[in-house]
Amino acid sequence: MRVTATTPTKTHGQWALDEREPLNHNEEFKAEDDGLNVRRRIEEVYAREGFASIAPDDLRGRMRWWGLYTQRRQGIDGGRTASIPPEELDDEYFMLRVRCDGGALSTEQLRVIAGISTEFGRDTADITDRQNIQLHWIRIEDVPEIWRRLEAVELSTTEACGDCPRVLLGSPVAGVSAEEVIDATPAIREISRRWIGDPTISNLPRKFKTAISWLPDTAPEINDVSFVGVVHPELGPGFDVLVGGGLSTNPKLAVRLGAFATLEEVPDVWRGVVEIFRDYGYRRLRHRARIKFLVQDWGPEKFREVLETEYLGRRLADGPAAPVSEVPMDHIGVHEQTDGLRYVGFAPVAGRVSGAVLSSVADAAEAAGSQRVRLTPYQKLLVLDVAEDRVEPLIETMRPLGLEARPTPWRRSVMACTGLEFCKLAIVETKQRARDLVDELEQRLDGLGLDTPVSIHLNGCPNSCARIQTADIGLKGQIVTVGEEQVEGFQVHLGGGLGADAGFGRKLRALKVTSAELGDYVERVVRRFDEQRVPGERFAE
Ligand code: SF4
Repeated sequence: MRVTATTPTKTHGQWALDEREPLNHNEEFKAEDDGLNVRRRIEEVYAREGFASIAPDDLRGRMRWWGLYTQRRQGIDGGRTASIPPEELDDEYFMLRVRCDGGALSTEQLRVIAGISTEFGRDTADITDRQNIQLHWIRIEDVPEIWRRLEAVELSTTEACGDCPRVLLGSPVAGVSAEEVIDATPAIREISRRWIGDPTISNLPRKFKTAISWLPDTAPEINDVSFVGVVHPELGPGFDVLVGGGLSTNPKLAVRLGAFATLEEVPDVWRGVVEIFRDYGYRRLRHRARIKFLVQDWGPEKFREVLETEYLGRRLADGPAAPVSEVPMDHIGVHEQTDGLRYVGFAPVAGRVSGAVLSSVADAAEAAGSQRVRLTPYQKLLVLDVAEDRVEPLIETMRPLGLEARPTPWRRSVMACTGLEFCKLAIVETKQRARDLVDELEQRLDGLGLDTPVSIHLNGCPNSCARIQTADIGLKGQIVTVGEEQVEGFQVHLGGGLGADAGFGRKLRALKVTSAELGDYVERVVRRFDEQRVPGERFAE
């Protein structure tokens, strides 16, 4: 069965309907040469001849397929972001995203990333809310050596960015959680082994985000495709399939297909969804190219029908909805594993660490008898496999590194995107602002005794890398006019959430807060919530 275009008079650029004419510049350069092919040029030309030798479509386009973005030139304020041509915003350094599918790292791998950070990245490192580690200040000349070191420990930057299947989110406690029925790691590994870097699916209409986890701890509602654990009354444990979630300027929650996939079926279903996106996704307008727009136009019934008839060649079983969580599952603190050992979740502030810190984490984990570390979709870090009597020494060792196993609610629930420090799209600074905000709230709200988390997410622009629409208090960076002055500030969104509270925060159009008054504002909102709530009430309710 071939489906017909939804608007026959106006094409969307869907390949399956023979609408192959590249209709925007990104589609043109992708059609000219696949993003994956830039690797050879990096190794053979650009790394040898330097930054100036890089062709523009490689520099600002294809290099993303290998986790490389140009970094923002230092000293350009956020108010000028939209008015400056891209070549003037580019610094001669790169951000490099290291792909960590499922957030899983051995201490050996962590030490290699740490070494790359200190040697080539001015000791920068951020844990992202997509379970990657992001480095900065990378020179093109060093990229081949960085790849060599990463690949020697089975890490890569393949498709860490770009219009392709990006990092596969997985539960940070997969395989050790007492709440888990099936460990989804084999499905993640199989997809990664078979299809990451596969040129048949490396030219998608836009980025493609995946979450595969028994527990609903990977923000499944806002991924392009998600598999969440559920027990089928007749077929036993397997996965509920959701498609079409995503944030940015037109946020959508993923919808259930009503289909049930066993662990063994997950990779093929994933591949089918990716191929639908490749073939039927919209390529005419870039801002309409995410799979969420196709899902919105088709609806889940038609999407499932096409998946089953055109791509899988068989029906999937109907299945029940996966359970949801009432509070974010960030795994902070000390928890017992199924084997009697403990895992310990630590909170840096807004994911900011460094190469030196990561190296010390590897040492501390090994001293505690562990060789396994996990990154979380909440910008946090876990050490697995710790014997009970080694937990407290580990916590004490990590504290001076800025990693708290018993953080204040504010340190625990603040997230921030890269922001003005390095991101070319940013309008405001975020990471340092998040740190200042945590310090302020820890002082101002010390002793408040709030028994429910209040998540506070800061974005440097409308793109929502830090998921502002699904935070209790979401802060979208923008320039705010105060009298005659233009200063950094935030548009406020209130009451968003995931899990039991899944929904987007209300944008308070009239409410813009300057960066300088952010502490005052958040304190007021939290105190008012605390005064008015009934016992047990969550912020988003
Ligand atoms: Fe950059 Fe905007 Fe994403 Fe922040 S939200 S990292 S400023 S694109």
